[in-house]
Amino acid sequence: MALLFVVLVIILLWGVYAPLADLLFHVRHIGTIYRGNELKSEITLTFDDGPDPVYTPALLTLLDQYKVSAMFFLVGKTLEKYPDLVRQIHERGHIIGVHTDRHVNAWFTSPWRMHHEILRTRDMLQRITGEAPKYFRPPWGRFNIFLLQQLQSLDMVPVLWTYACQDWEPGDRSKSIAQKIMAQAQNGAIVLLHDSGGAPGSPKNTLNALKVAIPRLQQIGFTLGVTPVLEAQAAADKRKVKVSRLSQKVLRPIWKVWDDLYSKIGHVFPMTRIFRLNVGHWHFGARYANEVPIEQNSKSISCEEANATLRRQVAATAEPIVRDGDPFVEMHMQLIALQELIAIPSPEKMAVRGLREVRDSLHGIARALIYDDRYRMAQGIFGYTLMHRGIERLGFHVEKIPPTLNNRWISFLTKSIMVLHHPLGRKRLKSGLENMELRLVWMTRKELLAKYFDGEVPSTVPSISQLLDLYPLVKDTAQRI
Ligand SMILES: [Zn+2]
Repeated sequence: MALLFVVLVIILLWGVYAPLADLLFHVRHIGTIYRGNELKSEITLTFDDGPDPVYTPALLTLLDQYKVSAMFFLVGKTLEKYPDLVRQIHERGHIIGVHTDRHVNAWFTSPWRMHHEILRTRDMLQRITGEAPKYFRPPWGRFNIFLLQQLQSLDMVPVLWTYACQDWEPGDRSKSIAQKIMAQAQNGAIVLLHDSGGAPGSPKNTLNALKVAIPRLQQIGFTLGVTPVLEAQAAADKRKVKVSRLSQKVLRPIWKVWDDLYSKIGHVFPMTRIFRLNVGHWHFGARYANEVPIEQNSKSISCEEANATLRRQVAATAEPIVRDGDPFVEMHMQLIALQELIAIPSPEKMAVRGLREVRDSLHGIARALIYDDRYRMAQGIFGYTLMHRGIERLGFHVEKIPPTLNNRWISFLTKSIMVLHHPLGRKRLKSGLENMELRLVWMTRKELLAKYFDGEVPSTVPSISQLLDLYPLVKDTAQRI
């Protein structure tokens, strides 16, 4: 009986020491870096478990070729064998972090041992590079309850990741890794990869994947560097806007949970300075090239009826440029960008800045429609907005939306976002928002590319997996490694 009790107490204590700590620091990301600034098209590639005498030099050459700087989380016991390689990583402008001395799991390691693991690796790195590393990545992302505090006392910051690419698994996985890198590419992403360890030969897959993924990410418009990690803290602070109202304090976290969930399920990714994108479908009926929507000016006939009549007339003679079911990119305004915009007191200045930022972002969306496998099948783009002043000038079709239940719901949500994110809260509604009506804004693929794609639109762009098939050289080079 007494033994059972002791066992239960030990399990309970361990539960607090390990899984609970993981929940706080890994799952909830308390005190840890896991993504950068979502308003900037920048991505950090991170490589764990090195250095490796075969794969790390090949990776360094590849990164140099595309002028990419990255982060390397090195293992102490390995790095002491290859000090020259460590020096090379450092000299080529990459950031080196600590990945413990023997790749230990914090769940099953005492706080004393953990301290020793970090300190030994840190000191070795400092001796080799002349610089004390500031960043730490726990093996498997595992935390125990003391780890964060220990790191803070050493003036170090734990870095996790926005997404991982399972590049440690066995077999020829170059294609699936390349697809995984591309599938969640987004502003401020920190990507977990490996240049050593895993299944035998697995870093070769990672290298192959990067040979096609790096140039493709750059074509889409991403800069591959280390700023997402360096600026992560500043970006996190920006997300925590101080609100004074109780309703905002209560509702904003709830909104945040809902928004995160929606983004995850709907694959909504921050892709431009102000927009998050996902792929949806057009469901507003067919549209025709020479159709001009009628504004509601007659009392006897509603705007929708008039438009429907017009559509029937045009439909008899023309092919639609858009029809229901067409894949379309949906644009959602990024909350931080929206927050910055609606904080501008002058409505005129807000409109000017808003239009400028939408215009800049459209160039990015045009590139995504050509080079990003997730968006390239889209036949156009659409979004809902309350701020539509002057937006036709950017080439958008602007339409009133029928007051269906669904549209009223969207309108309510959009206004709620404004209220929740504005320092004045509901007062904002009184200062003009009630005049703002929700509009549907859209543009066909052809219209968008003609206006916003810089340079000539390429006639064919292979998908990322076709690229790997197209260039057998990539495979041959890797096999020689
Ligand atoms: Zn590792």
